[in-house]
Amino acid sequence: MLVYADNAATTKISKSALDAMMPIFETYYGNPSSLHTVGQEAAEKLLEAREGVAKNLGAEAREIYFTSGGSEADNQAINTAAILGARKGKKHIISTAFEHHAVLHTLKKLEKQGYEITLLDVHKNGIVTAEEVKNAIREDTCLVTIMFANNEIGTVQPIAEIGAVCKEKGVLFHTDAVQAAGHLKIDVKEMNIDMLSISAHKFHGPKGIGALYCRKGILLQNLIEGGAQERGKRAGTENLPAIVGMAKALDDACKNIDKNAKYVSALRDKLIAGLSTIEHSVVNGDTVNRLPGNVNMCFEGIEGESLLLLLDMKGIEASSGSACTSGSLDPSHVLLAIGLPHEVAHGSLRLSICEENTEEEIDYIIKCVPEVVEYLRGMSPVWDELTKGEINHVI
Ligand SMILES: *Cc1c(COP(=O)(O)O)cnc(C)c1O
Repeated sequence: MLVYADNAATTKISKSALDAMMPIFETYYGNPSSLHTVGQEAAEKLLEAREGVAKNLGAEAREIYFTSGGSEADNQAINTAAILGARKGKKHIISTAFEHHAVLHTLKKLEKQGYEITLLDVHKNGIVTAEEVKNAIREDTCLVTIMFANNEIGTVQPIAEIGAVCKEKGVLFHTDAVQAAGHLKIDVKEMNIDMLSISAHKFHGPKGIGALYCRKGILLQNLIEGGAQERGKRAGTENLPAIVGMAKALDDACKNIDKNAKYVSALRDKLIAGLSTIEHSVVNGDTVNRLPGNVNMCFEGIEGESLLLLLDMKGIEASSGSACTSGSLDPSHVLLAIGLPHEVAHGSLRLSICEENTEEEIDYIIKCVPEVVEYLRGMSPVWDELTKGEINHVI
């Protein structure tokens, strides 16, 4: 059996998104900036896609800027807020310790340029409170950037409450909603979000395309100089096939959001219950305020990488930590941020499922993971010391 359970890293493109893209390559291949018929047909497709994405986020079409993905949207939003802030002498930014590296590394760069960064604690449950955000806001704060839902442990932040606090204090609020878009309901106006990042390949759209919502009235900075595309902020002929594919995928996901969430979260809960029978294991992050498809657990005495490789041999494709940190020996910054000790954080497993996963696949994972954990513990010197009482169990 082959089970793809790494949907937080990327998803398979849907048939309908692919079908929506093909005519753009074959029929509507014009440049949307051209004045002839095929160009204007392409321009119409571009506008339709922008309107579609906007509608599904509660935004206006002119507030949507297409980007190359989530990372670009995050960079662009944060850099814009930093530049606008500096003009008013405001160089303080609030975020959290467990953001995606697209956010954290942009903040690191700004820190070197003289900005002051406050990273709020996300506690053991992986959730920051609006009260904590409020208390951290200062006279010189120019931006609050807090992710909608975490890509490793799936915890969902109180975004509407944080938005209300930021609005009250007059501070720009950006959220990396890459894991949330298409999976959780988003309304940028109701939630008082000023800027929001999404990426198509996290909701069964194509890779290399995303969008930044930037509320009208905020002077988004230019990213690429050249033509007038994206309101002059990001020049270059639009990647129309990908844009249309993203709009279709987002529309499908939002139409089925309740149905999918119900189905996927039931599978998630079954998986968590099944794997929690493994002794000395822990579920990472809040189990209620959590993405429907996210399971993240640690098993004491083993290495996440070995677990992954053995599961892969059984046809189960999962992840330990995020795709970006795998390959490095450092444990996940997210798991450290929720207070796990290094040795426990190393034994992590993320299973991220979607509406295409079946109950049989979940049963298969529930059968395989305990076998593999037991096998690895049998060879683990650390587990040996734990069972002999030479070192103490942490979980
Ligand atoms: C995947 C991801 C990103 C990066 O998106 P890309 O489109 O791959 O650049 C950013 N933030 C979060 C939370 C993600 O999960």
